Amino acid sequence: MNNKLHSIKEILLMGPGPSLPYPEVYDALGTPTLGHLDPKFIEIMDDIKAMLKVVFNTESDVIIPVSGTGSCGMEAALVNLIEPGDSVLVLENGVFGQRQYEIASRLHADVDILSFPWGTAVVPDEVEKALSKKKYKIVSMVHAETSTGVCNPAGAIGELTHSHGCCYILDTVTSLGGIPVEIDKWHVDASYSGTQKCLACPPGLSPLVLSSKAMEIIRSRKTKIPNWYLDMNLITQYWGGKQRAYHHTAPINMLYGLYQSLLLVTEETLAAVYKRHLDAHKFLVDELKELGLDMVVEEAYRLPMLNSIWIPSGVDDKSIRSRLLNEFFIEIGAGLGKFSGKVWRIGLMGNTARKENVSKLIRALHEVLK
Ligand code: PLP
Repeated sequence: MNNKLHSIKEILLMGPGPSLPYPEVYDALGTPTLGHLDPKFIEIMDDIKAMLKVVFNTESDVIIPVSGTGSCGMEAALVNLIEPGDSVLVLENGVFGQRQYEIASRLHADVDILSFPWGTAVVPDEVEKALSKKKYKIVSMVHAETSTGVCNPAGAIGELTHSHGCCYILDTVTSLGGIPVEIDKWHVDASYSGTQKCLACPPGLSPLVLSSKAMEIIRSRKTKIPNWYLDMNLITQYWGGKQRAYHHTAPINMLYGLYQSLLLVTEETLAAVYKRHLDAHKFLVDELKELGLDMVVEEAYRLPMLNSIWIPSGVDDKSIRSRLLNEFFIEIGAGLGKFSGKVWRIGLMGNTARKENVSKLIRALHEVLK
């Protein structure tokens, strides 16, 4: 049989993720596989945790790259923290807020959803009203809503959840490593991310951080965590302490990739990485304007790493995207959910977030939109 891998050409990944991995990450993936309890590998695990603490801006020692993609991290956060009957409020303004709601709703909890129009941000005053009306144990929100390109006010919501004594879950799948994420300052109790966005790794891991308050909630649960694979009481025994206990076989080589990407991010410095994302974004916005394409999100709430644009009327969504892919080897994202067929999503994440990549896309868009 022909090996199909041999004919794969590199695509400039400018969609909502995966982004273009760093070349050093590809190299790291091919490092010889060690056993998951090999002392050398445990040192790598400890370094990953130390570097994730920097990227998440936290002092918490409970940081675990969950074996699975961003949705697995989402499931891990919710399934560990929510017990049957708990009151939960999900703040929703896109597909990933809906997904949080969907997962929470399967846990026999009392789940409310507070929705905001897609393309606009969560409004802290509305959240304050909801928190004053009912006592919620858990409030959950997405920081960077990838389906729309909106940056939600994670710090302001953290102030509110803190003053109302709620446990705060924040999705940082798309934001981590692209814009500041301040776990401790924003009083976040649980946050999960993904490797395939601004960390510029292939998909497969979901870094998860839990505060001491979150761990207290987990330890004092009345009911068993209804998911063995994601039970943090068990997984923390592999990721922490002197005596590491086998739980499941860690995806060793994926963790090498994450290790390498975190080394690159911390060497470049977070400030420089954020600036690279912002510079590429500003350049893209200016160039799109020249092409006559309109941004979906108001400037104040725009994410640098996910740019939603309205598809001009009369333009065929699918044929433009497939021409970009087949003739120019560039992938951009389609609209999701309510935005399907209405918007394109241009990702500037991780190693993709460079002005030269923006220039390539703009030249290609010029051709295909002629
Ligand atoms: N949360 C957000 C904000 C996302 O953008 C995504 C994926 O795009 C997810 C969660 C789910 O992650 P995954 O597709 O890696 O499971």
